[in-house]
Formats: sequence, structure tokens, C-alpha cells
Amino acid sequence: MPTEPIVTIGEILVEIMAETRGNGFREPQALIGPFPSGAPAIFIDQVAKAGHPAAIVSAVGDDDFGALNIDRLRADGVDVSAIAVLPGIATGSAFVRYREDGSRDFVFNIRHSASGQLSLTPEAERVLEGAGHLHVMGSALSIPATLGLTLDAVKSIKARGGTVSFDPNIRKEMLGDKQMGPALRAVLAVTDIFLPSGEELALFTGEDDEATGIGRLLQGGISEIVLKRGAAGASHFDAQGRTDMAGFAVEEIDPTGAGDCFGACYLVCRRLGMNVPDALRYANAAGARNVTIKGPMEGTSSLSELEAFIASTPQRS
Ligand code: ATP
Ligand code: MG
Repeated sequence: MPTEPIVTIGEILVEIMAETRGNGFREPQALIGPFPSGAPAIFIDQVAKAGHPAAIVSAVGDDDFGALNIDRLRADGVDVSAIAVLPGIATGSAFVRYREDGSRDFVFNIRHSASGQLSLTPEAERVLEGAGHLHVMGSALSIPATLGLTLDAVKSIKARGGTVSFDPNIRKEMLGDKQMGPALRAVLAVTDIFLPSGEELALFTGEDDEATGIGRLLQGGISEIVLKRGAAGASHFDAQGRTDMAGFAVEEIDPTGAGDCFGACYLVCRRLGMNVPDALRYANAAGARNVTIKGPMEGTSSLSELEAFIASTPQRS
């Protein structure tokens, strides 16, 4: 197995959740949290838990929310040396409440938090130089300080013969954005493994027809596309063809983080030498197990937990 770490760059947050379903936060209500969170943080925690060397370039404030995250990531095996602790600024946060229909209301403090002030510290430089694989989170590209850092890191890892994966996590407006649109396309142009969910594929290719869009991306130089389909599972496309894998039948308690766990687990399994169907099965298990547990990072899994989950949980037909 390649031992150079998988590295990602981006926001670390705490998530604080409403205990009841309903609309937003305009009245006092019961909350639960703080939970460690941030898409790149959830992703890298899952990489480490699956047993692969892992590091994150990020920033937190000198406060309990930052310490909570650093302690968790360190305990789970992530190299936390490139998480800067910035004095005089708070760790990022997200308050979330689920509506009755499953959609969500958020109050975010990210851009003006420590997560909005990532920079290339000597520790970040060292971690990025040692990386064998860089995972890019689209959400991190929406933060101006992180965007430049990520584009530089992508270039240097490719120049060294490393690989890049990309989970776009985007909304439609971002592709039209003057800064983000070109950045998203620049990352896509050097991506080896692309991990979109259904609607994101169409947004990037401008093709309503899935097969046409996939064909165009493969021709453009992407080696593997793994399409996430929520409860239905996932599909894999490469030059050899297509592999579908059904999702696991579970009761969804909290969907946040499923895509991050899925992507992390897929990458680790492939780097461990697993074939595509087995890697998809493990990745589906990582996503499904995560949604059964409240809290975005609470349901990350070790490979042995995933083996037990796969043995005891039926796949949807
Ligand atoms: P995110 O909200 O984290 O960005 P995403 O849109 O990137 O999620 P999803 O397709 O929602 O990704 O979820 C990723 C994977 O997790 C799915 O491909 C599937 O394997 C698993 N998964 C997600 N939701 C469920 C569910 N309700 N039941 C079973 N498996 C699920
Ligand atoms: Mg996603």
C-alpha cells in the first residue's frame, strides 16, 4: 500500500444541532452539540479511521471548539500538525435545524472564522510536500483564502506524480461565480478521481444525459468517476466500463457527512489494492453507517466496523 499520506485542505467547524424539527432559529430551543465538523475534517477523520496515513491543512481559534476538533482528529489518527491555532479569532461554527421535509436551515460562521484565514504555514508546507494524494473539497474553494492555497497545492502534487480527487459539493450559483467557476474547472482538469453526486455531474458537464456527461469527462482525462446516489448507492465509471453497487438498507437519522465518509473510504480501499466492486461496497457502508448516527463525524468507521456492518446489513435491491 502507498504510505504517503492522503491530505486535504479546508474548513474545520463545530456543528450545533436543533433537537426538534422545524423552521430555523427564531425562537429559543433545545440544542445539542458542539460536534466536530466541516466537510474536509469529516473526510480526513474517515481516512485515518480506515487505517491510512492522513493529514489536514486548516485553522481553528484558540478556543474550546478548536480544541474539541483537534483532540478528536488526533485521537482518530490524523496528523494535526498543520492545523494552525489562531489567537483572537473564533473557530468556525454551523447551527443546523432540519425541517419536517428533511431540508435544512443553517446559521454559518465560516468565512469570518479561523477557517476563513488559512495560510501556507511552514507546517502546512511540510505536510503538503509529503502528500501522495490530495483530496479537494468544493466547499473549501468557496473560501477565498483556501482557494489559492488549494490551486497551488494541486499543481505541485501533480508535478510530483501524486494524484488528486475532487468532491465538488457545490450549488449551481458557484459555477457562475467569477472566482469559483474557473477554480472548479481548473481542479476538474487535473482530477484523477471525481466524486460528484447526481445533480453535480449535470452541473459540471452541462449534459442532462448521464452517459454523455460521463463519456465527456473520461475523454477529458479523469480516470475514475464515482457517482454518489444517496440511499440508492453508487456507480463507478472508467475506461473499462460501468459498475453499479446498491446502497445499504438503513434508517437515516442524520445525513450530514455521508458523502465525505463515502469518498474517504473509497480512496483508502483503492489505495489498499481493493477492486472496484469491493471498494464501492465499503464506501457505501461508510456512508450508510454514518447516516445512522447523530452528528456529522460521530459515524466515521474503522474497516473492521465496516466489515461487521456489511455482514449484518442487507443491501437495497
Ligand atoms: P453530502 O450531503 O455529505 O454532501 P453527498 O450528496 O455527497 O452527501 P450522498 O449520495 O448523499 O452524497 O451519500 C453518499 C453515500 O452515502 C451514498 O452513495 C450511499 O452509499 C450512502 N448513503 C447516503 N444516504 C444514505 C441512506 N439514506 N441510506 C443508505 N446509504 C446512504
Ligand atoms: Mg457531497
